[in-house]
Amino acid sequence: MKNIHDFEFWFVVGSQHLYGPNALATVKENALQMVQELATDPAFPCQIKFGGLVTTLDEVTNVMNDANHDPHCAGVITWMHTFSPSKMWIQGLSLLNKPYLHLNTQFNRRIPYDTIDMDFMNLHQSAHGDREHGFLSARLRKPRKIIAGYWRDAAMRQRIADWMRSAVGVAVSRSLKVARFGDNMREVAVTEGDKVEAQRKFGWSVNTWGVGEFVEQVNAVTDQQIAVKMGEYKDKYIIATDQVDAIRYQAKMETALETFLTQGGFGAYTDTFEDLYGLEQLPGLATQNLMSKGFGFGAEGDWKSAALLQIMKTMAQGLEAGVTFMEDYTYDLEQGNELVLGAHMLEICPSIAADKPRIHVDALGIGGKAAPARLIFDGKAGPAILVTMIDLGNRFRMIVHDIEACQPLSPMPNLPVARVMWKPMPDLITGSEGWILSGGAHHSIFSYALAAEHLRDWAEMMQIEFIHINASTSVNSLKQQLITNEVYWKLRE
Ligand code: MN
Repeated sequence: MKNIHDFEFWFVVGSQHLYGPNALATVKENALQMVQELATDPAFPCQIKFGGLVTTLDEVTNVMNDANHDPHCAGVITWMHTFSPSKMWIQGLSLLNKPYLHLNTQFNRRIPYDTIDMDFMNLHQSAHGDREHGFLSARLRKPRKIIAGYWRDAAMRQRIADWMRSAVGVAVSRSLKVARFGDNMREVAVTEGDKVEAQRKFGWSVNTWGVGEFVEQVNAVTDQQIAVKMGEYKDKYIIATDQVDAIRYQAKMETALETFLTQGGFGAYTDTFEDLYGLEQLPGLATQNLMSKGFGFGAEGDWKSAALLQIMKTMAQGLEAGVTFMEDYTYDLEQGNELVLGAHMLEICPSIAADKPRIHVDALGIGGKAAPARLIFDGKAGPAILVTMIDLGNRFRMIVHDIEACQPLSPMPNLPVARVMWKPMPDLITGSEGWILSGGAHHSIFSYALAAEHLRDWAEMMQIEFIHINASTSVNSLKQQLITNEVYWKLRE
């Protein structure tokens, strides 16, 4: 997983020459002070750098071109200290292909009522200049985030920090490689999709490798490598089985997978229980431990979920609580307290565990392979989101569902998989009807750390459809939104 601290954002300040060199010198001084203060605030997950004071068409165009070509630059933040006539921004903003945040703030919090004169007004006129700047982006139909407020306020800085995470998600997406072992589960529709369009739209390079090639690498893992991995398992987990050979086999598979993914520069992978020829077990513990290290994963060939998990894990770096592959499994329809039990056959990431996970070995029931070792644990309680991506033929749709995770109502001692329970917002009946109406998959990415806004911004940056099911959702208003969206996206084709 890429380190989120390695990404930087360029703070570009707009002005013009109308006010004379003294005014411009003050503008630059103020801008540098802002960048210095912002850059040292630990609230930001990434670096902030001064991108320059731009006052001409060529300066604007050059800085946007530089931002496009700098691999560390994950986005551009603009702010108009004074009025900056926006026709000089047309070329630059049209060329910019990275996430773009327009800050509407000003250097001074308050108006100095006793001393304010026309010189002060001309120097501190973001209210004026940012409206000219905003018009141009509207005119260009340029996707952007606008955040207004005072730049020293923690709440405003938090919104900038959140936006940075979404922008990092774009940078990760554009260079993401996904390895697939085997195809999608036979006859399943929702995990399918247009991989060429996904690469054009998101930058995902999704390709397949024969499972036989993987088997060769598993068989080449040495006893010493297995011992290292077993040591890691002992440190991190409780070994609650005496079937050590089954755990050792997962250690072998994880070692081989980790080597393959790292050497190939892959951020995510898929496998399928229907294509395990030559393997003794379905990767369970192996995949769970790899997810906990930041790799994306999708079961049953689900490359869209695998990619999304890698992107969301990078976006959530440094935040508490985890992000995992998830599946809606079973309902508890107790009247008035309806809940979903979420789990998967094996592959839930232990980053969401409430307690130290236990390693068990249990039969799988499908796939016809040996009983795989896996981690069992309960998820934490707290607000979370489910995120899914579907391919509607003419477009991708992202659906985010706000949920409230809770401790499982009962221990479920015979259920041999990691699990978490939740109440979908606004309630299970409305929430499930909304999710199903929108075409949401049974697979999703579950996250405590990220909120719907992170994904909304990401979807806007990627220019894909975004549906948010939340506490104020009604099925009828959602239905109307889906109808309107159908027309809108048809027009955009
Ligand atoms: Mn599944």
